[in-house]
Amino acid sequence: MKQFVKHPLNWELIYDFKKKTGFWQSFWQSRFKMHPWLESIITFIYPARCRCCEQYMSVGKVHYICDDCWEQIEFISEPYCEICGKPIDFNPTPGHDGTQKCRWCWRHQPKFSKARSIASYELTLRQAIHLFKYEKKIVMAKHFAELMKDTAPKLFDLSDYNYIIPVPLHKSRYEERGFNQSELLARELENLFDIPLHLGNLVRVKDTRPQFSLETREEKLTNVQDAFEVREPEKIEWKNILLVDDIFTTGATVSEIAKTLLSEGANRVDVFTLARAG
Ligand SMILES: [Zn+2]
Ligand SMILES: [Zn+2]
Repeated sequence: MKQFVKHPLNWELIYDFKKKTGFWQSFWQSRFKMHPWLESIITFIYPARCRCCEQYMSVGKVHYICDDCWEQIEFISEPYCEICGKPIDFNPTPGHDGTQKCRWCWRHQPKFSKARSIASYELTLRQAIHLFKYEKKIVMAKHFAELMKDTAPKLFDLSDYNYIIPVPLHKSRYEERGFNQSELLARELENLFDIPLHLGNLVRVKDTRPQFSLETREEKLTNVQDAFEVREPEKIEWKNILLVDDIFTTGATVSEIAKTLLSEGANRVDVFTLARAG
């Protein structure tokens, strides 16, 4: 049976304190910057294992995952569909409007202008997102945002957006999980991208079934139909919006949100996700 050694420090707690007060931020930063030996001693007494490769690790850049595994994250590179960002292993013929689209985008005409993800939902990133979402290691949001920050300038003109909006959870799902993973990511990106976060206006009014539990794309499209509403449309009128989520699967959810935002007056909706499944 695998024996995981519990990480010696309660990183979530530290992270939470850092977010809440400047005092705690300087408290922890000063201690960890001034006394790296303290970390070394703690690591020596309570060694932690990497949650991907299970090797013992020192306190690395990223919590729970060793530096070697973290560096193995494979970023998505061209060629990919100009609309949804799906990697394609051939150069498709441009359509009559000049864009190179995947089959799904030709067929379904997603309502967002473009969607991009930084890496495939596999290996290290899959494990890291699992830690984040299901084991509630919310400190991971900071590391994910750093990855997104490094890649974002190649994918988007960040000066173009008025708001960052995270994909909302339904109230009951939020209460069950205790947090919205997309909102935590968006909160980190707000500072890194210098784009205001716009919360509470876009709401999920239908408690939809999890998209991964559905088989066909048609089922997924129907599942999220009319699931979102904008409470104060005047606030998003003529705005360019960067929609943020953790995983892009078929794009049905973000396309439905884009449809809602555009019909309520938004000018453009682009999508930025951490990982791409499929
Ligand atoms: Zn590792
Ligand atoms: Zn596509």
